[in-house]
Amino acid sequence: AILPLPKWNETPAGAAGNASAPLRARANATFVMLARNNDVNGAVQSIRSLEDRFNREYGYPYVFLNEEPWTDEFKKRISALTHAPIEFGVIPHDWWFQPSWVDEPKAAAARKEMSDKGIIYGDSVSYRNMCRFNSGFFFKHELLLKYKWYWRVEPDVTFHCTLAFDPFVYMEEQKKVYAFTIALYEWSATIPTLWDTVKDFMKKYPESLAPDNAMGFLSDNNGDGFNMCHFWSNFEIADMDFWRGEVYTRFFEFLDATGGFYYERWGDAPVHSMAAALFLPKSQVHFFNEIGYEHPPNMHCPKDDDVWTKGMCSCDQGKTHDYGPYSCQHQWDRIFQ
Ligand code: GDP
Ligand code: MN
Repeated sequence: AILPLPKWNETPAGAAGNASAPLRARANATFVMLARNNDVNGAVQSIRSLEDRFNREYGYPYVFLNEEPWTDEFKKRISALTHAPIEFGVIPHDWWFQPSWVDEPKAAAARKEMSDKGIIYGDSVSYRNMCRFNSGFFFKHELLLKYKWYWRVEPDVTFHCTLAFDPFVYMEEQKKVYAFTIALYEWSATIPTLWDTVKDFMKKYPESLAPDNAMGFLSDNNGDGFNMCHFWSNFEIADMDFWRGEVYTRFFEFLDATGGFYYERWGDAPVHSMAAALFLPKSQVHFFNEIGYEHPPNMHCPKDDDVWTKGMCSCDQGKTHDYGPYSCQHQWDRIFQ
């Protein structure tokens, strides 16, 4: 039987849109994409790629978040791509916009200084809003509360390999909490005082540190200095209960209270990475080699021929970021030796 296409605001009857191939979503998981209405073409490209390489056989739901109301055009273009359930949410005002306690003249001076130095997004307030939201709020959104696992997706990304397994189920079965595909160096001018703030937190709450954590990924001298290595958070598969938990909640509030998201340009990537590396045992942080992933200008492509062949990968293995000059993969590998 041919099922009618669900409208964007309806969940399809049964789990599946395709009666002949029952979908296999097994984990309590969702994709989440933060985007603007004018990101629609890039969002379509990302979802198309994700459906082709993984989700067409699983039907995991999607949640789209935006600080502005979604246009009918955006909802229509996305809803055409999948029979999986899709929800479009708006972000509560105070989780997005610069808080009133932030000293705006001080923040404005910092933006000017950064843009004079040519730092990307140096003068952008909205980019800072985005980084703070991704650091401390997305997992509290009402549309996400019913889920434990999320897979973060951005507009204009490509998934290069067909997945022969369900990464959410893998995470659950292997007791993983946070997973990445690309590790690289942060631009230090965006986070001048972040590490000192994190060190203050560790002094005040030493019980937050996990035994056998991944400090060796972040620091080459036992935590004295930060080596700028972090996980690229435009791809993440993780357990939202970690972000929702007591340790991370206290950590985010401690960071946020300094105003560093606005007086500097702290990214959600170093913030998430530091938390995952310090508050989890390193065995709970996972590198997904099988997931060929590209967010320009960087790409992870499986180097091993067997993985690349099995995944029918479309990426050039010679262009993988893994052991290039800007990669921190070697730093990750090192802590397991
Ligand atoms: P980059 O990857 O660091 O260059 O930053 P992006 O421009 O890709 O932004 C990161 C994510 O946040 C993407 O999913 C964007 O669609 C989203 N994003 C960035 N700025 C805004 C914004 O002002 N509003 C909304 N709703 N989403 C944003
Ligand atoms: Mn991006």
